[in-house]
Amino acid sequence: MDHLRVDVFDNGAVRLGTNLVCDGYAEGFDFRVQTHIHDDHMGDFNRSKGLQDIFMSRETKALLIAELNADIEYRDNIISLGWGEEKELEDGTKLTFVRSGHMLGSTQVVVEYPDGLRCGYSGDFSWPINDVIQVDELVVDSTYGSSASIRKYSQGEAESCLLEIVSQRLRHGSVHIHAHRGTIERVLHILSANIGVPILGSKRLISEISVYQANGFALGSVTSTDSEKGRVALNGKSYVRLYAKGDGFRNELIEGTSISCSAFMTKPDNPVVEYSEKAFGVALTNHADFEGTIEYIRATGAKKIVTDNTRSHGVDLAVAVNSLISDAYAQPSSNHPAFTVR
Ligand SMILES: [Zn+2]
Ligand SMILES: [Zn+2]
Repeated sequence: MDHLRVDVFDNGAVRLGTNLVCDGYAEGFDFRVQTHIHDDHMGDFNRSKGLQDIFMSRETKALLIAELNADIEYRDNIISLGWGEEKELEDGTKLTFVRSGHMLGSTQVVVEYPDGLRCGYSGDFSWPINDVIQVDELVVDSTYGSSASIRKYSQGEAESCLLEIVSQRLRHGSVHIHAHRGTIERVLHILSANIGVPILGSKRLISEISVYQANGFALGSVTSTDSEKGRVALNGKSYVRLYAKGDGFRNELIEGTSISCSAFMTKPDNPVVEYSEKAFGVALTNHADFEGTIEYIRATGAKKIVTDNTRSHGVDLAVAVNSLISDAYAQPSSNHPAFTVR
């Protein structure tokens, strides 16, 4: 394949051309895009803050501020963009963000060069989504790029299973639910109107949830574990407690039932794994599976595809794209990540 303008560096930074990287730092690149706030995409963020202009959606910026990165609000090299707004950068390229459906603020990225070539990065994305970027060259997330990653149940079914387990286990005591940021807000949305017990969370989580609420998400209220009301509920054993990043799940002794919500697919036809009568996994995820990933790539119209090999499955996905999409050519990114993120 001829020379591509897109690739992924060893540190996981996604390169769209010669001057812009996504979700990482690269020497000599003026611009960084932050696609969303998950930790595995935040590499070298502080370094970028000192050395690059950083672009992100307004929602991502609000979430980072809520995470106590107070200086973000006042830095003039941190620039937020609206959905679909085309931003011309100093080097003559044009940058556009399109929602990726993965969590609040998460974006797909398009950089259009003065010669008309359009380079894109999917970021983490869910499927189906309303708007798909239209590009010539694409870097695609390959987290579920293996054909073993096909889910034979819908996310609606996974949500019903979660609600059923929570309702059932609340008869035996408290329920403790752990999920990634973004997914934990979905859990709250599912439970809010449907269970008659207090829902507890950390102050950190409550400030994150308030950003979702400010952006139009109808989420029920969460009581702080540090408040008087929260302490009373904690003594009563009839409550649900939510945990995300930094909330200490597994560091404390849990007397009730614990439920982890993540995208694991040990059983492709059942969203629930029962570890014991007090411990469950529910496959709630905001990531496209293998089939969704292929459909997504088709929908972008990209003819040259780099599968991001940072989180494994890049090779599997490139092979699959080459056999399933006839007029496109895919290759795994050239990076050699030092370790594989699960
Ligand atoms: Zn993510
Ligand atoms: Zn990710």
